[in-house]
Amino acid sequence: MGNRTSDTAAGKGATAGAATPETLWAALRDVVDPEIPTVSVVEMGMVNRVDVDADGQVAVEILPTFSGCPALDVIKGNVRDRLMREPGVDAVTVNFVFDPIWSSDRITPEGQDKLRGFGIAPAPISRGRPLKVLQGQPVACPFCGSGRTVMDNLFGPTPCRSIYRCLDCRNPFERFKAL
Ligand SMILES: [Zn+2]
Repeated sequence: MGNRTSDTAAGKGATAGAATPETLWAALRDVVDPEIPTVSVVEMGMVNRVDVDADGQVAVEILPTFSGCPALDVIKGNVRDRLMREPGVDAVTVNFVFDPIWSSDRITPEGQDKLRGFGIAPAPISRGRPLKVLQGQPVACPFCGSGRTVMDNLFGPTPCRSIYRCLDCRNPFERFKAL
């Protein structure tokens, strides 16, 4: 009695060049936050895991930076569209997961640099410290480095960011809320 399960996988997903987690992670470096077009979702630390099976079925876990952020649907679509263009990919499922919870600790050093270049001060590193302590920290101006800054508008242009103003160079700048 042979195990005759032979033809289940015949002719499926056998396009040239198999997708691997490595090629997919590399492709995700092309996907940006639409509100911060210089920083990829990888640099933002939003990609939790990428899996691909032998049939080219891809599953991506994305950590939302802020649950109310309207950009999330756009990001989800962009992740799916970009990965569908990779050789060997047959289908892409994007799921938002909340464990682990995204925090600004996950932003890569390159991502922090690019945020600064874009005039956004990265949120303080949280590392489990109470939010109250973090909110009391001075916010350095990304333009001149001055610590003499004030928050202008708690809510900012999106639920994710706050607007600050520098008292020294007078530039306004944005900052991610500490999460
Ligand atoms: Zn300044």
